[in-house]
Amino acid sequence: MKIYIIGASFAGVSGGIHARKLYPEAEITIIEKNPIVGFLPGGLLLYLQNKFENLNDAVFVTKKQLNEQNINVKLAETLLDCKAEKHEIITDQATYHYDKLILANGSEQKSLNIGLENDEDWDPSFKNYDLTHKILTQIQNAKTIAIIGAGQAGMEAASTFIDLKKTVHLIEAMDYPLFKYFDPEFLTPFLNAVQKYSNLHFHFNTTVSEVVKNDQYEILLDDKKIISDHVLTTVNVHPQLAKFTKKFKLHSDNTIQVNEYLETSAKDVFAVGDLVHSPIPIRKESAYLPQINHAVRSGAVAAENLLQQHMKFKGGLRTIGTKAFGWYLASTGLIEEEAFVYTHEIASKTFTQQVSLVDKTIIYCKVVYEKNTEQLLGMQLLSKADCLEKINTAALAIEKNMTLDELLQSDHFFQAEFTNVMEPLNRINMGSENRHAF
Ligand SMILES: Cc1cc2nc3c(=O)[nH]c(=O)nc-3n(C[C@H](O)[C@H](O)[C@H](O)COP(=O)(O)OP(=O)(O)OC[C@H]3O[C@@H](n4cnc5c(N)ncnc54)[C@H](O)[C@@H]3O)c2cc1C
Repeated sequence: MKIYIIGASFAGVSGGIHARKLYPEAEITIIEKNPIVGFLPGGLLLYLQNKFENLNDAVFVTKKQLNEQNINVKLAETLLDCKAEKHEIITDQATYHYDKLILANGSEQKSLNIGLENDEDWDPSFKNYDLTHKILTQIQNAKTIAIIGAGQAGMEAASTFIDLKKTVHLIEAMDYPLFKYFDPEFLTPFLNAVQKYSNLHFHFNTTVSEVVKNDQYEILLDDKKIISDHVLTTVNVHPQLAKFTKKFKLHSDNTIQVNEYLETSAKDVFAVGDLVHSPIPIRKESAYLPQINHAVRSGAVAAENLLQQHMKFKGGLRTIGTKAFGWYLASTGLIEEEAFVYTHEIASKTFTQQVSLVDKTIIYCKVVYEKNTEQLLGMQLLSKADCLEKINTAALAIEKNMTLDELLQSDHFFQAEFTNVMEPLNRINMGSENRHAF
């Protein structure tokens, strides 16, 4: 069996590695248009934070590692066309015949219509290796940087640039940052703390109408103008819009339509990762979830289904964990602001506790649950201490439809140096007022 995979990032590599385990005899080839595989989308920031010595090291897998697993990797080669009726793909270098094809060519950030479209020195994103390489020196030399979008990537970028003593303008159409993941009042301690940075300027409820490039960039906002040495956008993530994707049935947002087994409208062609819509279990609807864990799992599930419909893809809860400005922020599932998307009445509880019996750092916790059944639907965490891993337990509890009573009985380890007497999930139904030790 000849398996071809388009895109050597999270979804494609995961699909390839899992297919190798499942089909030892198969010939597996990944085609990637970039010159390296597995570049981390936050690679630029990690490099600027000195977490990697070279930009090329900011990868999660290498071509050598894939070759060692008997997976062929063709780099700097771009898929141009797909003739699904003939089981044929055409790249800029050759034509190949496949038995099974996994499209994992991911997402891009469509350029905003703000006047920079024809500027060859400017690229909207810093997600892939080529783009990152291109803008690295500009970013290093910039004294002032404007970032459009205060989501996870925008906040991480702002935090990194502030650490590098740059002046940062963060422009966001909503009235607070990270709005997909947190309720506004929950972020109050964090927002109060970041106000102390005199070189960080938030522009909320604001959209960019135009950017003009002279010696610097002039960014025209609704009611004012700001000047910066560089402009980055972290918004407008869309599936890669290539000519060949139009051969498949698409949703109106240009994601490729797939069934529960990640099969497209064409026989033997699968689509995964940032190309597809996915179910969000608690919402009983599907949504675009451009996230790495989602991409990795979808690649593996597509591999499971190559020969027969074997495993349904469950989608995700939009779980995130990040660190910005010295704060750890994590969220999973539903937030209270989105109560309108949920079919039943919801309730919430907010409480704090200290990290452990020896570490008095506060963890701010908020849970959202269904009012009648008390089934957990969402959790938000905020702390100056690393509490990120707790969000994964909450995500699992939501996936398993656990109620607050069941969580009261869920088993967690205790060790005075590392834990409190009870975990936040145990405490929700035991009176969740602010109690530091217990
Ligand atoms: C700045 C930034 C930071 C992010 N940080 C996080 C994070 O910390 N956590 C998180 O969960 N998510 C994060 N994301 C989102 C995450 O990057 C995506 O969800 C994830 O990369 C999707 O993986 P994928 O494999 O589906 O596609 P992609 O990573 O988009 O990869 C697609 C691959 O296909 C290749 N390709 C495209 N077209 C072709 C073609 N025609 N021929 C050959 N190859 C092709 C591309 O070069 C690319 O390597 C971030 C996104 C951005 C923009």
